[in-house]
Amino acid sequence: MLRYISHDFSLLRCLWFTKPMSRRTAALATTGEVLHLIRSGEAVTRADIGRVTGLSRPAVSLRVGELLERGLVVERTDAPSTGGRPPVRLEFNAAGGVVLVASLGASRTRVAVCDLAGRELAGRGFAIDVEQGPDVVLPLLMDTWEELLGDRPRSMVRGVGMGVPATVEFAKGRTESVRVMASWTGVVIPPIVQERFPVPVLVDNDVNVLAIGEHRGVYAGMADDLLFVKISTRIGSGIVAGGRILRGALGAAGEIGHIPVKDGGGVLCRCGNVDCVDSVASGTALLRDLRKAGKDVKDIDDVTALVRAGDAETMAMVREAGRRIGEVLAGAVNILNPAVVVLGGDVAEAFASLVSSIREVVYRRGTALATRSLRIEPSRLGAAAGISGCAVMVLDRVLSPEAVDESLARGTAAPSGI
Ligand SMILES: [Zn+2]
Repeated sequence: MLRYISHDFSLLRCLWFTKPMSRRTAALATTGEVLHLIRSGEAVTRADIGRVTGLSRPAVSLRVGELLERGLVVERTDAPSTGGRPPVRLEFNAAGGVVLVASLGASRTRVAVCDLAGRELAGRGFAIDVEQGPDVVLPLLMDTWEELLGDRPRSMVRGVGMGVPATVEFAKGRTESVRVMASWTGVVIPPIVQERFPVPVLVDNDVNVLAIGEHRGVYAGMADDLLFVKISTRIGSGIVAGGRILRGALGAAGEIGHIPVKDGGGVLCRCGNVDCVDSVASGTALLRDLRKAGKDVKDIDDVTALVRAGDAETMAMVREAGRRIGEVLAGAVNILNPAVVVLGGDVAEAFASLVSSIREVVYRRGTALATRSLRIEPSRLGAAAGISGCAVMVLDRVLSPEAVDESLARGTAAPSGI
């Protein structure tokens, strides 16, 4: 029970304050849990750790010693003196390793090396067609990581986090979509990457990764229930419920793009159904319908130019797309009751009128309680949420108390990397 609750340190602290732990129980606070206390800022000196965990001084020293030896923690003595000897402050060492991340999109991909705090140390953007398949794309990603690592020793690599534009069976890192990334169907990505980087490899859907990045980077501590909607070449969403990403039984949660709209006109969707919101209101659908109406549009920038020029027909189509998306989102809001809906993706970023149409429909069609304090906001991080979300996903795993304790027990840096 203690091990189960011990990752929620606010809860743990609360329990400790109400019911001090006996020495015997306190001995369960492991080195990995001590690292978590230091990382979260809950305990920054040896005395703090002793107080919060109830561990004896030798036990605290032993655990801190292991963390210092692994380079996960550093000591600082620059704390302001209060007269006596200044206490030695313990700091999580973000420079003690790196994670490799890649945020793959249908049109935009970014590859980066991040420190253990999730900050990008080096990165590169690409326009690669992911439909070329894993045989082409994965070696390119791995070569780029090698280049971005430069002179850093490969032993510094603690883990890999990737977002891919497909449904992913998260536990296995296996892509599922049959029609979207056909050449990736059933590919189990981690073992391929681990041939070159023998560390934990986590793979998730691209929109889940954006949701994680936006939640942790902007709304952590303010909103634990968030719906991130990406409106771009395609439409998809990532759901954060109770502070955690909701993946569903097999990783298919959040597929709002394939919810049908009313009176869509019988448009056949690439999923095989008709009138999915993706097939009538995505960037791809908007371009198709504008071309049908005789407009010369190659990409979303051309549509933006028409809107800026005040083209009435284009403006009406953009607003209509917003209404379609709003119709589906109102249903999602009724089911999930998020505190905030974040609208991201290049189509949402380009058109204020699309966003206002979505807002109007969601507030009109959502239930009174679900929309009472609902915020509908544009993405604050934009595409950067992809990289930070990948980093958060892999760091949460490799720096978890269990992963740290497991690798200490093994006494080796590989394969978990810590
Ligand atoms: Zn569909």
